[in-house]
Amino acid sequence: RPESQRVWLEVSAKTGNPSSLHASGRSSRRIVEESREAIAAALACRPSEVIFTAGGTESDNLAVKGLAWGAAGRSVIVRSPTEHHAVLDPIDWLCSTGDFTVIDVAVDRFGRVDVDDVISHLSDEVALCTVMWANNEVGTVQPITEIAAACAEAGVAFHTDAVQAVGMLEVSANLPGLTAMTISGHKIGAPVGTGALILDRDAAIVPVLHGGGQERDVRSGTVDAASAAALAAAVTAAVSGQHVLAQHLEVLRDDLIRRVLAHIPEARLMGDPGDVPGLRLPGNACFVFPGCEGDALLMLLDVAGVECSTGSACTSGVPDPSHVLLAMGVDPQDARGALRFSLGRTSTQDDVDALLEVLPGVVERARRAGRPRMVVPS
Ligand code: PLP
Repeated sequence: RPESQRVWLEVSAKTGNPSSLHASGRSSRRIVEESREAIAAALACRPSEVIFTAGGTESDNLAVKGLAWGAAGRSVIVRSPTEHHAVLDPIDWLCSTGDFTVIDVAVDRFGRVDVDDVISHLSDEVALCTVMWANNEVGTVQPITEIAAACAEAGVAFHTDAVQAVGMLEVSANLPGLTAMTISGHKIGAPVGTGALILDRDAAIVPVLHGGGQERDVRSGTVDAASAAALAAAVTAAVSGQHVLAQHLEVLRDDLIRRVLAHIPEARLMGDPGDVPGLRLPGNACFVFPGCEGDALLMLLDVAGVECSTGSACTSGVPDPSHVLLAMGVDPQDARGALRFSLGRTSTQDDVDALLEVLPGVVERARRAGRPRMVVPS
């Protein structure tokens, strides 16, 4: 966003460690604290609850490891199997140390978490429950309010990864039962490498980074005033423009979905059907094109000037099907033909029209090309 870039350039030209007591330091400190206040106002939390980090991955790691370590005597982590790898992998790592075990809660075919299943697993052995606000691959919005309330009742710390939700949905950190919430700057027009963890003041957390004791002793390291200011500008703009943007994108997204399904009969929409407002991210349209290779579709579309994503991670030269789609019960062969189209604040009807002009031909070519044999993970 221009307003974020502008403020970053301005502040990055200043010297002064925000922890220094001299005039330059105090000036940087003022910028950091005003940024904290702006983010807190936009996300309905207290300024002291905003911990600046270097992005979503760091915030997720801090929340997962820090809250798990902070819950003395508790060793179970409850999570959704559709989390981003920035949440899944720190949990798997904690389990590999032998100190924790994990429970993956049930999700339905849209990838929505079963709240009753979450509740059935909450006990005084649970150190942390973590469920993302909205899924990055299939756009399904989770019943966060209910899960947070259940965690509060059970006395379990609750973290949500809201990286995809800020600026797209109404996001408030003032949710009874919410202990921590991850946000990332580059999803909302701030520089890559900016982000924050919104962290309840009473949360029992063990830091991942030790050092100078900045950020409530939770995240040591010289605070980056330019990044804080740029993040604040982006969060403010994203939250204030959320409603209008969501309405605009829902129209584009629904048109895109309707036309893809009409022109490519075998295409299947993944994630929430989107017919009830607020249950699917406004800018997300994810499909499976059976018989196609997602990477082949992606490259053919790229040549045609359309940039999109597959849900797959490529390991050892053969793309693995997305863990999100597998958790939703999608056939592993079909999951390899998944493609996600993301719309954002610069997207227009012309963009959707341009996609629909090339997509049927691209799918036909990719299907004829077939696919290499795959190894289905057990
Ligand atoms: N969580 C979700 C849901 C994401 O979509 C992403 C990035 O795509 C991340 C975490 C990681 O954030 P970052 O790229 O800021 O490290």
